[in-house]
Amino acid sequence: MSHVFHRHLNQDYPTAVKGDGPYLIDSQGRRYLDASGGAAVSCLGHSDGDVIKAIQDQVGTMAYAHSSFFTSEPMEELADFLIDRAPEGLESVYFVSGGSEAVEAALKLARQYFIEIGQPQRKHLIARRQSYHGNTLGALATGGNAWRRQQFEPLLINVSHVSPCYAYREQRADETPEAMGVRLAAELEEEILRLGAENVMAFVAEPVVGATLGAVTAVPGYFKRIREVCDRYGVLLILDEVMCGMGRTGSLFAAEQEGISADLITIAKGLGAGYQPIGATLVSGKIRDAIANGSGFFQHGHTYIGHATACAAALAVQQAIESRGLLARVNHLGDGLQARLKERFAQHVNIGDIRGRGLFQGLELVTDRTKKTPFDPALKLHARIKKAAMAEGLMCYPMGGTLDGRQGDHILLAPPFILDNTH
Ligand code: PLP
Repeated sequence: MSHVFHRHLNQDYPTAVKGDGPYLIDSQGRRYLDASGGAAVSCLGHSDGDVIKAIQDQVGTMAYAHSSFFTSEPMEELADFLIDRAPEGLESVYFVSGGSEAVEAALKLARQYFIEIGQPQRKHLIARRQSYHGNTLGALATGGNAWRRQQFEPLLINVSHVSPCYAYREQRADETPEAMGVRLAAELEEEILRLGAENVMAFVAEPVVGATLGAVTAVPGYFKRIREVCDRYGVLLILDEVMCGMGRTGSLFAAEQEGISADLITIAKGLGAGYQPIGATLVSGKIRDAIANGSGFFQHGHTYIGHATACAAALAVQQAIESRGLLARVNHLGDGLQARLKERFAQHVNIGDIRGRGLFQGLELVTDRTKKTPFDPALKLHARIKKAAMAEGLMCYPMGGTLDGRQGDHILLAPPFILDNTH
């Protein structure tokens, strides 16, 4: 019996022993095409020579230095690289070890910002239903995924959840996409006013919804309107790009395609591409300055902040994406992937929707296409699909739906940016 506390305790997992480009290979020699990048992580595949060398060089020189004693060259260089390419107004990077930590840091930065500027009553958070922002308690409370929250509700802070921008299920029959965006921005505004604008700290959203809905992009203009509403009431906008950022949807930051910036942006997954665990929170000059000119100290920290080897790996990943022109490739391959999925599945009786942007594509599964009826969650369709795909040597990322018809089972595809026709 394994002594590892696996997430599924009654399941046998194959043992992964080797990476080879977009493939993982198990101890029996079976090859798996990683069509989901694990969970939208492995954007450079599993054996990138440049990234491996950068890690080896860093480990051999100076693996780690605690951030309360030192800064390090890889941490400084990675921060410069990201800020040079970040949406307007973002000026500093707070490094952590993963996505949930990045979200926790963003929440605390928002809270501390308002304390520093003399508005300590601003502590209320608004996010969206059917969202996922991580599994630590603050991030879990922020997310609106009922299934993930259920058991832990008594431990979660109170967060308001407004409607997601989920056109497939929530666009009304008499509504254009633009009108839907107007309606949803008005819903956010109403919620801010209901709570009292002077009490609201931040609104949190994924530019392209990943784990809960499966590559759902917003309707045109939605995010610009959301940005305006936040600005009107002095509410911070936190964009969670942990899954959709770092090139996954065809631009380095997904916010670029919405034509907006944010006060805080969280990234992880594709940042280190799985070669090292790393995440980050990008912080606007406004927030940084308020803290720098106030207490001068962010009251939050982890042992592995700015881990030198993780930063060296992430820098090599990002340099590889840029120098090899992989963002253009993501757009090109993404268009091709969506066209192929539509060709093959658009008429399938159980495929309700095919959507996404770049190499971030989702298929939603239904029992009835006209009524958009989700499968009964008791069937655990997503688990069966994952198992069947693995048996065929394919990794994809299916997630379960809900019986109340708010979301169906879906399959998320997020392959490495290095795929070609031979794979
Ligand atoms: N935020 C989003 C949008 C995510 O998709 C995820 C993970 O899937 C997280 C946060 C949490 O990241 P991690 O699993 O690295 O803690």
